[in-house]
Amino acid sequence: MNAPAKFKIATTSLAGCFGCHTSFLDIDERLLDLMRQVEFDRSPFTDIKHCGPCDIGLIEGGVCNAENVHVLREFRANCRILVAIGACAINGGLPALRNHLPVSSLLEAVYQPGMIPNDPELPLLLDKVYPLHEIVSIDCFIPGCPPSSETIWQVLTDLLAGRKPELPSRLIRYD
Ligand code: SF4
Repeated sequence: MNAPAKFKIATTSLAGCFGCHTSFLDIDERLLDLMRQVEFDRSPFTDIKHCGPCDIGLIEGGVCNAENVHVLREFRANCRILVAIGACAINGGLPALRNHLPVSSLLEAVYQPGMIPNDPELPLLLDKVYPLHEIVSIDCFIPGCPPSSETIWQVLTDLLAGRKPELPSRLIRYD
């Protein structure tokens, strides 16, 4: 008898710090249970560069440049359920602290005159850092900076079981 097909999960970090991915890895030995059920597509865990058709996409980080928009749209086009994980993905988080200043003044503050990078290969910075849901539709939000591994595990197990995630208040945090 053939083994049941595995769920496919993709993950990525846009304007984030990988703290949410680290919290994901903190599910520790439950990773072994997870790997029996899922296969990772594009993710820092696999180094696959493009997102193919997936059941679940997890995205940390907000949207700060043109490449982030491209990656986010690729995930939306390929993931049946798209999850915004962490404060940066949900409301811009720490990177959005730049939103009250024009991009030009930020670049002038960071780089010496005449040294602002302008290689056409570099992704263009957006005028501000956007939360994911302002660019594409999002199906599920996991708050926290980062969310705890317990919270991430709860959401994943609910989604894999075909349930709408219902987090108890003890697993919902905004710090
Ligand atoms: S929510 Fe917090 S932990 Fe997650 S990417 Fe943003 S700053 Fe890092």
